[in-house]
Amino acid sequence: MLFSEIGLGPDVLRAIEEKGYTQPTPIQEQAIPWVLQGRDVLGCAQTGTGKTASFTLPMIDILAAGRARARMPRSLILEPTRELAAQVAESFETYGRYHKLSMALLIGGETFTEQVKRLDRGVDVLIATPGRLLDLFERGNIMLSDIKVFVIDEADRMLDMGFIPDIERIVSKLPKIRQTLFFSATMPPEIRRLADSFLLNPKEVTVAPPASPAATVTQALCIVQHEDKRKALRHLLRTEDVKNAFIFCNRKRDIAVLQKSLERHGFNAGALHGDMVQSKRTETLEAFKQGNITLLVCSDVAARGLDVQGLSHVFNFDVPINAEDYVHRIGRTGRAGRSGRAFTIATPEDGKAVAAIARLIGREIPVIAIDGLENPGFEDEETARSHRGRGRARGKKEETRESRTGRGREGARPRPERERPEAETAPPPRSEGPVRRERDRRRRRDEDEDEDAAVLGFGDHLPAFMLAPTRRRALPEPEPSQEG
Ligand code: AMP
Repeated sequence: MLFSEIGLGPDVLRAIEEKGYTQPTPIQEQAIPWVLQGRDVLGCAQTGTGKTASFTLPMIDILAAGRARARMPRSLILEPTRELAAQVAESFETYGRYHKLSMALLIGGETFTEQVKRLDRGVDVLIATPGRLLDLFERGNIMLSDIKVFVIDEADRMLDMGFIPDIERIVSKLPKIRQTLFFSATMPPEIRRLADSFLLNPKEVTVAPPASPAATVTQALCIVQHEDKRKALRHLLRTEDVKNAFIFCNRKRDIAVLQKSLERHGFNAGALHGDMVQSKRTETLEAFKQGNITLLVCSDVAARGLDVQGLSHVFNFDVPINAEDYVHRIGRTGRAGRSGRAFTIATPEDGKAVAAIARLIGREIPVIAIDGLENPGFEDEETARSHRGRGRARGKKEETRESRTGRGREGARPRPERERPEAETAPPPRSEGPVRRERDRRRRRDEDEDEDAAVLGFGDHLPAFMLAPTRRRALPEPEPSQEG
């Protein structure tokens, strides 16, 4: 199918053509006609599938007729992170260039004054993170009673980050008669229940089975001693044809350490995590997109859904704690049909986490050896068996005093005890699961929305739907997050 056959107006088609796209991606092909017909849509699609344009393109057409009144936006798009919100705004700018739609971006970490001025002038498209939106609503700067089209993007991530109570409050302020578009990469029961309560007779569109990494990403795993991780990364960076790469760490505090270490070794590296002020985050990301920085050391939350055209590599400096994060991380590369390469650096203790990833993606990640470094294999029996004999080190490193003591030659510190909150050392009874999950989510949300957290604390409030029994099998208990 061609874009010209999908039902979009000539001005949008012109902008698409100038962007260089001729064919809609599967999610666009399936969703756009329904959105244009005014139907609610439940889209199960990951980032990288062209999901953003599947709602921005028809929305531009829908909103082309009509004018916004002061403080009463005509459409609302909720995004879990500021970067994603900014990306959606870019998409509206690109495809809406032949329309006169006004747009406002309400994200935390930026001053209210400019945002309020924008709202006063009237906006057709309002893109917001939930915290900042509620904040402005509570100050009386905004009314949501004129919203015609409402989009919830990355709903599963919103759940992870503890945003669902905020979203429930926002939805309670919207008019009952509206069009709702709901997107999520996965559809666990909580998300399904939420969709059921927000959507009216939706058209369901699914483009890739949840948690399947793009077929265009070549994956590899190397198992090294903890003190060899940085050396392994440098080896990969030097031997791979790296144009630009995300390097993921599990802990925020390790991001700066790794970035500095890479710079010391002559690599052009920047850092991105939730503790940085927004202006620095934006500046770093822009430098990376422009190619002034080649490597970006980042956390899951900061890099979630970021769309960097033609990212050649993803490196997991740490094996992600949640298997699903693995899929999200490596999905940063191999986007829109391009090929990409993803390397994961594991240590002997990571066997269980790697096994969980293999279960989720339905295959083992091929093991490779790093020249000159020992490949110790996994400690865990089950994983050790499945990885035994493959990719053994070519040059087995002799045991040194450093490796015995866990102190690397390059000043790597001994492997730290994994930092876990007390509650996780002594697991609470099963019935406390939702409370723990909520605590965990709040921690993640705080990383990204720390400025808003003080205003929008919900104390120990849990939204009712999370405690209601599910029809399907309950979600497995998430692994503890080590961010923060
Ligand atoms: P998204 O899933 O929205 O993050 O989009 C992933 C990437 O696909 C972005 O870089 C888009 O610019 C690109 N893209 C969106 N629609 C198309 C299309 N129809 N053809 C080719 N690339 C596209």
